[in-house]
Amino acid sequence: MEIKVLGCSGGIGAGRRTSALLVDDDILIDCGTGVADLSLEAMARLRHVFITHTHLDHIACLPLLVDTLFSRLQSRPLVIHTRSDCMRIIHHHIFNWQIWPDFFELPERERPVVRFEEMDAARPLDIEGRRVHMLPATHTVPAVGYRVEDDRGAFAFTGDTTSNDDLWTALNDHAGLDLLMVECAFPESERDLGRRAGHYCPSLLAQDLVKLRHRPRVGISHLKPGAESETFEDLRRRLPERDLVRLGSGDVFKI
Ligand SMILES: [Zn+2]
Ligand SMILES: [Zn+2]
Repeated sequence: MEIKVLGCSGGIGAGRRTSALLVDDDILIDCGTGVADLSLEAMARLRHVFITHTHLDHIACLPLLVDTLFSRLQSRPLVIHTRSDCMRIIHHHIFNWQIWPDFFELPERERPVVRFEEMDAARPLDIEGRRVHMLPATHTVPAVGYRVEDDRGAFAFTGDTTSNDDLWTALNDHAGLDLLMVECAFPESERDLGRRAGHYCPSLLAQDLVKLRHRPRVGISHLKPGAESETFEDLRRRLPERDLVRLGSGDVFKI
């Protein structure tokens, strides 16, 4: 399995793209601005999009992706996997003919170019040998993370979350974990704001990582623009025994 970071920043600006991971060449996790860097051919190979939650930095490119691929998707629709409440929010607020056309009924309601597939934690999905599980998250809106494994290994992406015991329990319930991509959006100086915004800061994440029984590489995502180094170096000081990586667009991990 290959995981490519298309975007992992907490904002935009030169070199910064928001949340999107490409798994092999057919699965996207989140559809933030990082997707815009894919070639047309690479976009056309996408078959499945797993959404962690409905915040704009995680779905900004979804409407544009569907529109760009419109003619190519008519023979094989793009499948969007997420919780049912997230599905409703995206449909109602984005694909509503006002912000964007309702591609869930185009070109015809009976054979749309995109369709939702509701997912929940009790029903992992197998996509040609890659098994996708939902992970619990605690954010300001309904949110999840995902754990993906094949016969060789596993990685997990938390999406946006603040301190959340259920996440660590869910990760510990599985036999192994090779790579964890976890957010740490806020620097310690903004701990209270971060907590209210449903995000991690270094002290909260350091406290929670102790609960993880596995020893994966730990990629840090969603760092606030301008505070990236401060936040990451702080984490490194607090977690000297962990294999931490500051994630960047274009990073590729093979499992
Ligand atoms: Zn969010
Ligand atoms: Zn976010």
